[in-house]
Amino acid sequence: MIKSRRRALICGIGGQDGAYLAKLLLEKNYEVMGTSRDAEGSSFNGLIHLGIQNQVQIVSMSIDDMGSVLSVIKSFLPDEIYNLAAQSSVSLSFDKPFEAMQSIAMGTLCMLEAIRFIDHPIRYYSAGTSECFGETDSIPATEITSFNPKSPYAVAKVTSHYLVANYREAYKIYACTGILFNHESSIRPDRYVTKKIIKAACKISAGSKDKLYLGNIDIARDWGSAEEYVEAMWLMLQQPFPEDFIICTGETNTLQDFVSTAFKAVNLNWVEHVVTDPALLRPTEIMVSRGDPAKALERLGWHAKCKMRDVIDLMIKAQQSVR
Ligand code: NAP
Repeated sequence: MIKSRRRALICGIGGQDGAYLAKLLLEKNYEVMGTSRDAEGSSFNGLIHLGIQNQVQIVSMSIDDMGSVLSVIKSFLPDEIYNLAAQSSVSLSFDKPFEAMQSIAMGTLCMLEAIRFIDHPIRYYSAGTSECFGETDSIPATEITSFNPKSPYAVAKVTSHYLVANYREAYKIYACTGILFNHESSIRPDRYVTKKIIKAACKISAGSKDKLYLGNIDIARDWGSAEEYVEAMWLMLQQPFPEDFIICTGETNTLQDFVSTAFKAVNLNWVEHVVTDPALLRPTEIMVSRGDPAKALERLGWHAKCKMRDVIDLMIKAQQSVR
């Protein structure tokens, strides 16, 4: 008997993680459907960059509209759903807090309610974030560290995290949250600081006299590779029972380290090209974000191979090839 292909629904397939996850699942012979708020109007540059835009079906869906969510899930009947669709920027959430709550918290609730009402065994992945922990100082966060969110984005993600835990317990849904620390790639949108730094370093090394304007460069984060992190998402849905996992490299560096490493890679001294701009400071900021990836290694057999320096090299190489 021919075994039918497993089906995965990726909500937010047009984003960075959506594109890399689609590539991974296609390689694993999944039938992949993806959603966008506007399937006709969105550009799907990530899928195009990876050369897989014609291998996935894309439909329009509003993550916070129960009717829209139900109709997509009912028609496709996926085995796995990866919910990556939502406002994804901490800075933007200070400007658009209602959108943050609506797309993240209500979006998660819509997905969970839809799964609860549909008579089909679905495994559900929810995109959580290290931002939920707030300040970690010198002690790396684990899966039992308490949350202390410092932005509308993080508050919404904490709500989403507890909704997933509640539906898992109350309705025995296979649902888990991946608590992912920052992960980057060449298809990261330009609004993110890492991409902004890489683009500026490459442009200045090619002769531009532009300056790079940044907010607080003393903040410290754990940066990994998006391409590796999507494999951890998939692994979370292949376990005997659902659990939440921290996904990070275990290495924390300051933004200044990121900047100096990126500029050094193109033979520049960052000090001559970077200007700190108080207008770019956030109302509240996490100074240090540190994570412990031990549980992912122990239970999923997953660990990050790419650390910050490798991620920077990958991004610079990709940026230089588009010049
Ligand atoms: P991304 O590139 O910004 O993609 C997110 C997608 O969500 C967008 O392509 C967009 O698709 C959709 N979207 C944006 N705003 C929305 C809104 N208001 N309502 C509904 N959909 C919206 O983000 P990503 O880096 O792939 O991240 C995926 C998920 O992981 C996000 O939930 C993010 O918060 C979370 N996360 C990311 C990181 C990271 O470092 N990348 C770390 C921790 C957690 P359409 O425009 O096509 O609808």
